[in-house]
Amino acid sequence: MKCPRCQGFVIHDQIWSSTDNLRTLPILRCLNCGETIEDGIIRNRHKPELVNSLTAAKSG
Ligand SMILES: [Zn+2]
Repeated sequence: MKCPRCQGFVIHDQIWSSTDNLRTLPILRCLNCGETIEDGIIRNRHKPELVNSLTAAKSG
């Protein structure tokens, strides 16, 4: 996993939730620029692009 901003190395970290102070949220933190990425967002981006291959197979 690389930082989307600077392609730097990111590590697993956690932050305190802004809505619930008793909880922490898993995040990724860039060691290079300090960018923080919420884990939920990352999972959304990891969806395989099956739609494209299915659409391509149908065409024709
Ligand atoms: Zn970065």
